[in-house]
Amino acid sequence: MQRVTILGSTGSIGKQALDVVRMHPDLFSLQGLSAHSSEEAFRVQLKAEHPRRAVFSRPMEKPWYGVKLRFGQEALCELASDPDTDVVVLAISGIAALTPLLAALRAGKRVAIANKESLVCGGDLVKKALEAGEGELLPVDSEQSALFQCLQNGRREEAEKLILTASGGPFFRRPREELRDITPEQALKHPTWSMGRKISLDSATLMNKGLEVMEAARLFDFPGEQIEVLIHPQSLVHSMVAYRDGTVMANLSVADMRLPIQYAMTWPERMPSPAEPLRLWERPELTFFKPDMDRFPALRMAYECLRAGGGCPVVYNGANERAAELFFAGALGFLEIEESVSFALDRFRNRPMRDLEDILAADGEARRLVDEFQKTRRSK
Ligand code: NAD
Ligand code: MG
Repeated sequence: MQRVTILGSTGSIGKQALDVVRMHPDLFSLQGLSAHSSEEAFRVQLKAEHPRRAVFSRPMEKPWYGVKLRFGQEALCELASDPDTDVVVLAISGIAALTPLLAALRAGKRVAIANKESLVCGGDLVKKALEAGEGELLPVDSEQSALFQCLQNGRREEAEKLILTASGGPFFRRPREELRDITPEQALKHPTWSMGRKISLDSATLMNKGLEVMEAARLFDFPGEQIEVLIHPQSLVHSMVAYRDGTVMANLSVADMRLPIQYAMTWPERMPSPAEPLRLWERPELTFFKPDMDRFPALRMAYECLRAGGGCPVVYNGANERAAELFFAGALGFLEIEESVSFALDRFRNRPMRDLEDILAADGEARRLVDEFQKTRRSK
């Protein structure tokens, strides 16, 4: 019996992780839940799920007597390293997931990790935490889960290329000039997946794929030159690994996140899952396109950041997180998201990231640079 704690349980991944736990009462018991916003949704969850522990980011407006409930960042890290938890599902969005991730790994947990921002920003620290203890990292992000599964078919040195697939988001066929006036509502309509707000936007700007290139490099320890991106609008092939003899292993399934969530929790076992079987004959068209790096600067910048190392990946992520907030608030245009990331990267003086403080400082700097970009834009 695995005791499971879900961090970010009110989000899209968090709710699907709860589904997986509920579906296998013989395998999993729910230990803890955490959330940040949507107090009401969290209350409903606490009432329905009765976790043994719960953490909300700030004191709740109405008191709660049902569960052992605590508040704030420190409590969140304690929940992540709770001795009565075996598996932590990390479904928090953004760099906020980094501290609980490190806490969980240092406490020797299996972390089923959906969050990519923490891996992009925390690269070396995460690696050190893994090397130092019993902690394990199992990818939930569908592309990374696919790579993880394809990589089990050969030795590391036999694998030549990691091929990440990308849906291309809702606008990949549109000329760039048409993208300037895209509204949040249009950007949130993802063609194949239903996800949280920020990652849906990241999919439309291709920042998500840029983050995933860096995420794959961190998770599997491959350099950027061995990581490729292919646009695949149907999202049935979740990623591939090309081996040196010319064999390509691909991972296919319907687009249902509960599948990679569950696999990260049960690996090395495979269990029945609620995902629909894949009826390939009903979806005969699988197409692939090479992305144009000039058309998608978000991708080009990600490769550059990976090569530059140091704080550049942190700035790429932090600038994007801030730009996304401003876009949703109506203060930045769609193409200004990547423009502001480029602005921040141009002005950032790169340096090594030795500890969490360095990372958080670079993240703060990136956010300030985006605010500066936004102000100069508005005053024009
Ligand atoms: P979401 O916005 O739907 O949910 C985020 C959850 O994290 C919520 O429970 C929220 O309360 C909590 N949270 C937000 N900010 C927090 C903070 N500062 N401190 C503590 N908790 C906080 O997001 P999502 O779509 O479920 O995505 C979660 C993560 O998984 C992201 O990193 C995303 O990139 C990754 N991911 C998501 C999907 C998907 O299908 N949704 C797929 C692959 C990867
Ligand atoms: Mg993904």
